[in-house]
Amino acid sequence: MGSKKPTYEELERQLADTEAILTTLRRGEADAIISERNVALLRVKEVEEALRKSEENFHDSLERSPLGICIVTAEEEILYANRAMLDVYGYSSVEELRAVLAKDHYTPESYAGYQERKDKRKPGDFVPSNYEISIVRKDGEVQHLAVSRAEVTWNGERQFQVLYQDITERKKLDQLKDEFIGLVSHELRTPLTVITGAVNTVLTEGARLSPKETHQLLQDAALETDSLSHLLGNLLELSRVQANRLLLNTEAVSVIRVIQDTVDKIRRQSLAHQFILDIPKKLPAVYADQLRLERILYNLIDNAVKYSPQGGEVRVFVKPEEERLVIGISDQGIGISLSDQAKLFGPFQRVEQSKLDGIRGLGLGLLVSRRLVEAHGGRIWLESEPERGSTFFFTLPLSRR
Ligand code: ADP
Repeated sequence: MGSKKPTYEELERQLADTEAILTTLRRGEADAIISERNVALLRVKEVEEALRKSEENFHDSLERSPLGICIVTAEEEILYANRAMLDVYGYSSVEELRAVLAKDHYTPESYAGYQERKDKRKPGDFVPSNYEISIVRKDGEVQHLAVSRAEVTWNGERQFQVLYQDITERKKLDQLKDEFIGLVSHELRTPLTVITGAVNTVLTEGARLSPKETHQLLQDAALETDSLSHLLGNLLELSRVQANRLLLNTEAVSVIRVIQDTVDKIRRQSLAHQFILDIPKKLPAVYADQLRLERILYNLIDNAVKYSPQGGEVRVFVKPEEERLVIGISDQGIGISLSDQAKLFGPFQRVEQSKLDGIRGLGLGLLVSRRLVEAHGGRIWLESEPERGSTFFFTLPLSRR
């Protein structure tokens, strides 16, 4: 069987079909190449976007960090400083910060430390990477910072990242704690010296002493014991207040009784003062914690005596008002200026003149009294003029709380 030769038309048709197939194949190939290129371009864009975002995140987290962060060269040139770092120093731009000499950034003692670290770093000697510095802000205020330093790569080069944490408040508290311990030790030692001295004298020389001398020594010891126990009581109250553990044992209390008892206790300490009680015969009972009321009165009457070293009248008065009793203690002593009055109810606050006059005190009595008065729902305030005496007032609500 011989095959039939295709005609010219058939050959032409076959050629056209083949060309059509080839064209379709070529177009597909081109499309595939184009779409591959598009995918690659899209990937590059995605990577670029991810990189931009990551840079933005990094920059944002540096800028917004609550820690002061800066990048410095080995020569201490500042390359970057974040917002918190500028805030710590009180400058608004890195340029402004850079313009200030290192010497002016530090307190003199801290500058010496800075120089020492710099000198040691040059030859590669060991320098701790965590240390504390004290700086002088643009406004002249001194601030204390804890610093951590680490090597990092910045723009492809070896630099140093320095972190600054503000520890000014902690330092102030530490200082206050040290002062407090010093003050308390001193305030405890003074009465203890008198007590031991008096008791030892009576013990060793009792036979030689007249009954009057012995009585005087023991009375001194008893007075100092009272003042010591009062001081410790105030400290204890303060620690209860700080720990939110101040619980009152309220009951119906006769204010007249408590005032008389407290005045009798203090009267023994001073012959130079006349105590005057200006109290109405009939007073409604007050719902109060009796021991705490005694403490408030003791603090205020004791102050009236202490701060009127020339003697004079100490007047305790009570005025009933609609829903409260106003209790006042006035003296004719050294008085307090208006500017000092505002701060005296804070911890360890004493008028400079009281210290100069050698009047002993810890600066806690008024703070404790204020806390105790407020715990009863009352208020405490004062009126005073230098060298014209002072009057301290406090109120106690009459209704049961
Ligand atoms: P302290 O008497 O132990 O120092 P206070 O807290 O009782 O502590 O008083 C704080 C300061 O207020 C005193 O150191 C003193 O300077 C001043 N002060 C208090 N009461 C009087 C007063 N009656 N007259 C003058 N100054 C007073």
